[in-house]
Amino acid sequence: EALNKILDIKGSVRVFCRVRPMLLIDKKRNYESISAGSEKIAIKLAGTRKEFEFDKVFQQETSQEDVFAEVEPILKSALDGHNVCVFAYGQTGTGKTFTMDGTDEKPGILPRALNELFHQASFDNLNSLSFSMSMLEVYMGHVRDLLAPKPLYRAYEALTRCNLNIQTDSKGSVEIEGLTDVPIPDIAKARWWYTKGRRVRSTAWTNVNEASSRSHCLTRITIYRRGDALEAKAPVSKLWMVDLGGSERLLKTGATGLTLDEGRAINLSLSALGDVIAALRKRKAHVPYRNSKLTQLLKDSLGDHSKVLMLVHVSPRETDVAETICSLSFAKRAR
Ligand code: ADP
Ligand code: MG
Repeated sequence: EALNKILDIKGSVRVFCRVRPMLLIDKKRNYESISAGSEKIAIKLAGTRKEFEFDKVFQQETSQEDVFAEVEPILKSALDGHNVCVFAYGQTGTGKTFTMDGTDEKPGILPRALNELFHQASFDNLNSLSFSMSMLEVYMGHVRDLLAPKPLYRAYEALTRCNLNIQTDSKGSVEIEGLTDVPIPDIAKARWWYTKGRRVRSTAWTNVNEASSRSHCLTRITIYRRGDALEAKAPVSKLWMVDLGGSERLLKTGATGLTLDEGRAINLSLSALGDVIAALRKRKAHVPYRNSKLTQLLKDSLGDHSKVLMLVHVSPRETDVAETICSLSFAKRAR
């Protein structure tokens, strides 16, 4: 039985690594690539070779289809009633948003997951599957609704004024007070809301150089299943897709003032997330959810019966090696 427990934990947290391909700008500067295998990644630092192991490594050429194929089983877990969290972690510019959202021609995990959920719903004879969606942003410990009917505070300066409260009920369910949760009856509506949330987010950040990399963007899909005899719908599970703030360390960017505070907030919440995942992996009695807004928000989706997928993104550039090693070390802790 003890062995089963260990296997169970192993099954609940998966850590993948994705290496961004060289972009035109990289090639021009003639950087060297880091080498990777299908489960291992090797990096040379000051003449020594460091190796890191993952559940899966996606090399530079890996397509969005192939990434999604590996992520897809987690959707089945969500439909089976497990709460699921998918995280994109990594230094800014390593492809977190590309993996989660992608582009029109190369859609990422989120639009593909929506397609797949509706595809599954169409096979569902009882017609009992339905979904709703919320989108929010966590910036310097403040929680902002991205799907609010009238976004009162669009300007980034005012972000700190739109902070939703997080409550936990007696059953341990997390309630984000006042968060908009829209029913998504079909794929067209789902895409419409998803596009709207993305737009609200980027509009607010227009005048702030790269500052959006200092916030976490969370999309939540709630899955409902109507009982045979019951009209009332009960949620079966929540599926979170989280595009995390950039993990880069502060010294390198030489940040000062607001950026420094932003960086601190991101670093604090990322290490709080690492602590929670490590505690879950080790089956610690105490899981330190309270240390950040991010982990408070996800408390009921980061527990015994939930599934976690951490996608660690790294740069192929030689000049980013130190940063890459930091990201890989973070992943090692989670795994
Ligand atoms: P992040 O969200 O981590 O800051 P982005 O997703 O914005 O990084 O990626 C930075 C740039 O690299 C974007 O122009 C993106 O389109 C490109 N990019 C990232 N990953 C890939 C990939 N796997 N294939 C092609 N282009 C990519
Ligand atoms: Mg991004």
